[in-house]
Amino acid sequence: MRYLTGIVMLVLLTISTFLSANTFTNLNVKASKHPLLDSTVTFVLRDDITALFDADNRFVGDLPQVNAMMTQNSGLNDAEWYLLYLGQAISYQANGQSDLAHQAYEKATDYEANISESQSALPLFNQRYLLQSELYEQQEQFQLAYDQRDEYFDRMIIYYKGLNKARVEELKLKYRTETKQNNNELLKNQNALKELQLQKLAQRKQQRFYLTIVISLIILVFIVLIVRQVQVRKKLKVYAETDPLTGLSNRKVLFEKGARAVEIAKQEQKPLSVMLFDLDHFKMINDEYGHQLGDDALKVITKLAQETVRSRDLLIRFGGEEFIAVLPDATIEQAKAMAERLREKLAQYTPQAPLKNNSITASIGVATLKADMTLDQLIHHADIAMYEAKLSGRNQVLIFNSEMQDKSINCRRNN
Ligand code: GH3
Ligand code: MG
Ligand code: MG
Repeated sequence: MRYLTGIVMLVLLTISTFLSANTFTNLNVKASKHPLLDSTVTFVLRDDITALFDADNRFVGDLPQVNAMMTQNSGLNDAEWYLLYLGQAISYQANGQSDLAHQAYEKATDYEANISESQSALPLFNQRYLLQSELYEQQEQFQLAYDQRDEYFDRMIIYYKGLNKARVEELKLKYRTETKQNNNELLKNQNALKELQLQKLAQRKQQRFYLTIVISLIILVFIVLIVRQVQVRKKLKVYAETDPLTGLSNRKVLFEKGARAVEIAKQEQKPLSVMLFDLDHFKMINDEYGHQLGDDALKVITKLAQETVRSRDLLIRFGGEEFIAVLPDATIEQAKAMAERLREKLAQYTPQAPLKNNSITASIGVATLKADMTLDQLIHHADIAMYEAKLSGRNQVLIFNSEMQDKSINCRRNN
């Protein structure tokens, strides 16, 4: 029976050794290599203690070194004591000092109670059970060897569970971090897109603003040009219609406005008369005093004539020193009276030196509109009357009559 139990134990040990050999090769992990697991480790290990084991958790120190550290005992914690006793046990085991090795293993076990489960499950710590199991196995204490290996596997399960959990947590964290980074990236891109859209909008707004300014300026320039054009046209019209010396309207206006006044008078059956005056011996003034003084005299005469006619009358410089006034609503008597007033005004006017010894007189002919007359005919009548006034001694006003016309016709025939 004892042999049978021994054989079963041996089989179990062989299987577990095989398993552990495979498992152990996968457990080349040190506490310091797993930060997540490290966070559950109770004790921090001194570097000179961890340096006693290599990357595969194999003891690489020696017995005197371990003993020296134990003797110094400078504030070692329980986990460090555990590892020192483990190192001692491995050294004894390697030297074939099985009893001392067991004693050291047991001392390590005492310290294990104070070490957290996650820390003691680390392969660095947990290898104690496997190694002691091998020691028991060498001593053919199979039950104890089995128990130790059982303990070893329990801890390995804890270790792997912890490792898995840590990896899951690590992955979760990685996933969360990546998701967060992606979200941040997405948000960043969205913000950049928004920024771009805003910039585009602002740019369009600016473009529209500039376009509005340019269009407004073009419109303004057009308006200015049109206004100037209108002003220039107005000026040209004024120039075309105004006598530059006296500022009076010229013949062009006479035949436009005068013709209209005649039409109105006919339609409304109202009187309309004209008076035509020519300065007497004006050539002499020019000849004696020069053209400039003649011009000045013409301006003064214009002023006197303007003062004499009414605001609705049309005073025209007909040519040279010859003027004509169209007098709407004026009968022949009223026209004659106005002509007489003008003649007197001119005759009474005393020019300044050097003309002061010369009097300026005018011969004036007046005529009134008849139903079947045109403006031309009316002016012609006034002209005949004026001519008659010249012939009759000048400085006088004459009203047109049919005899004057006959006389004028005979004169022309004789000439
Ligand atoms: P009358 O009419 O009494 O027969 O004599 P007159 O000397 O006025 O004769 P006429 O009508 O032939 O001469 C007109 C003169 O008026 C000729 C010209 O020297 C002068 N005259 C015409 N226009 C102007 C003008 O714009 N400025 C000046 N200074 N003289 C002018
Ligand atoms: Mg004259
Ligand atoms: Mg004349």
